[in-house]
Amino acid sequence: MNIILLGPPGAGKGTQASRLVETRDMIQLSTGDMLRAAKDSGTEMGKIVADVMARGDLVTDEIVIGLIREKLDGDTKGGFIFDGFPRTLAQADALDALLAEKGERLDAVIEMQVNDETLVQRILGRAEEARAAGQAVRADDNEDSIRTRLLAYYKQTAPLIGYYHAKGALSVVDGLGEIDEVAAAIQKVLDKA
Ligand code: AMP
Repeated sequence: MNIILLGPPGAGKGTQASRLVETRDMIQLSTGDMLRAAKDSGTEMGKIVADVMARGDLVTDEIVIGLIREKLDGDTKGGFIFDGFPRTLAQADALDALLAEKGERLDAVIEMQVNDETLVQRILGRAEEARAAGQAVRADDNEDSIRTRLLAYYKQTAPLIGYYHAKGALSVVDGLGEIDEVAAAIQKVLDKA
């Protein structure tokens, strides 16, 4: 089963994807994690994306599609969870083509809905927790970058909601509840998919 977790920054996509890795033996493909890893290991691509990411803008379609293409060639286990990808219509088209090439399909697109003020507070809270624990704080977990990330979401990513709705693939989950409640709502969608 291949699914997309769609939602603004701070909606809890990463948290729920980790759950599904445990409960359904799925593979989490987070382009944000891949890009941060490239940045931290100082690759050429990592250097190119660092500033764009810190600002909260999207990196190019070409780069993220390339990252996903590489991962799809590996083991498929219980299927893929696309977390933070696709973020543009061009990426959505590329994903359709990549899955078709492999004889695979998308089984569900789950939109996680959370209001904007909750998002900002969640992300700032996450940064504060990391700081208190002496851990690294994401360069884009500050108020300016969060606003830019939200704008990028509404401008470039939110059109995917209509796109997947029109394809009959979209399910909506309330992302405001406790982690367990949201996880249960997602399991319900997947059980029906
Ligand atoms: P995330 O961890 O998903 O919040 O992503 C962090 C940052 O990585 C984003 O704000 C973008 O700068 C970049 N990024 C992650 N995924 C994508 C994507 N699919 N397309 C473009 N940029 C991305």
